[in-house]
Amino acid sequence: VNCDLIISGGTVLTMEPDSAPLADGAVAVRDGEIVAVGPAKALLADAKPAAVLDAGGGLIMPGLVNTHTHLAMALMRGFADDLPLKSWLEDHIWPAERELMDADTVALGTRLAAAESLREGVTCVADMYFFVDRVAAETASAGLRAVVSEPLLDFPTPSSESIDESLARTRDVLTAYRDHRTVVPAVGPHAPYTLSPANLARAAELSDDFSSPLLIHLSETRWEVDSIRKERGATPVGYLAELGVLSERTVAVHCVHVDYDDLGALGEFDVGISCTLVSNLKLASGVPPLHQFLARGLKVGFGTDGSASNNSLDVLRDAQLAALLFKGLTGDPTVLPARRLVELLTIGGARVLGLGDRIGTLVPGKRADVICVAVSEPHTVPMFDPFSHLAYAARAADVRHSVVDGRIVMRDRELLTIDGERLVAEARAAAARIGVRRSRKASL
Ligand SMILES: [Zn+2]
Repeated sequence: VNCDLIISGGTVLTMEPDSAPLADGAVAVRDGEIVAVGPAKALLADAKPAAVLDAGGGLIMPGLVNTHTHLAMALMRGFADDLPLKSWLEDHIWPAERELMDADTVALGTRLAAAESLREGVTCVADMYFFVDRVAAETASAGLRAVVSEPLLDFPTPSSESIDESLARTRDVLTAYRDHRTVVPAVGPHAPYTLSPANLARAAELSDDFSSPLLIHLSETRWEVDSIRKERGATPVGYLAELGVLSERTVAVHCVHVDYDDLGALGEFDVGISCTLVSNLKLASGVPPLHQFLARGLKVGFGTDGSASNNSLDVLRDAQLAALLFKGLTGDPTVLPARRLVELLTIGGARVLGLGDRIGTLVPGKRADVICVAVSEPHTVPMFDPFSHLAYAARAADVRHSVVDGRIVMRDRELLTIDGERLVAEARAAAARIGVRRSRKASL
């Protein structure tokens, strides 16, 4: 095969249906695309690649997908904890964002979160944050695949005086990044309770015009369900269905409080669900019924949400918690078995974002988003089943190399696209400004 990169020296998990782990396997890449997957011996014998990435006896697998986050909020990690969502947002997060989140700060926060993500084996994220043009540019330069959206709200935001301005910025990014290799522009109406019906409909229309994903927070809290019921006479899911907002391009984030009919509607419209378990637990919003999503065959992936409500972008950690929690809650140890969990982290997440035909499994024709995970530490030796290790034993720090769209972005845990030392210094300087605001607030 004719290729410019071969990833070898480990066991390949293609994550294709019914595929067995391929010991001593290799993945050949040309111009960002996977061109062959097979036994390393055969691939290396008749290929003259420009580069070889050695997995060091570890696992070679698709990169992890984080289906929902607010990257730049990495700068606000630990800023306000142990509060219910409404007060957390209205009294702490939104005022601080209005004061501090200018375009350059968003760019810095995005860079910080991209660095964290790539080091945790995440090669694709879906983001919703202000100054989406800067988010797109930063993720592209970091080499992190990203679905990006400007949050649309009825009230002024750090980036826009009005929703007209936010919609215009969205349209610009939809146009500019239409055919980009790693940036997927999307439309991001914030939530049913922060937008008027007319503005929700405008967002849906824009997403339809560009056939883009539409990201929306949905049915996160009991308060949201009660207030939409009171004002609109339907559940949040039913309300959006009626407005024409739901489609197979919708990514519904949270879906914690959904009833039987809601689940039916989500399936009928083929909506993708981002399960943000840790964020929902931390804000005490409830537990998203992941086992029911799976039992109904809905499209599901894991999302961390922003670092201010998690407080990590480590989607592997979230999934590992889910694997345990739903067994305990249901009393059924067969719920969320190890391989299924790894599917949700890779191809499942890719499908939620509408990228199932481009990433999520290792197969010729797809883009090369690949990670190598070491299994040579005491906590992963010996190994009977790679899926078991990923679901119950591995840690994000075991990820050795990350490749996105054929570009090596981390080698031996060193980021090649971001200056880590400088980034840490810049993030600390920005935090000093955030700290000033926080102490002023505390003294009020
Ligand atoms: Zn969110």
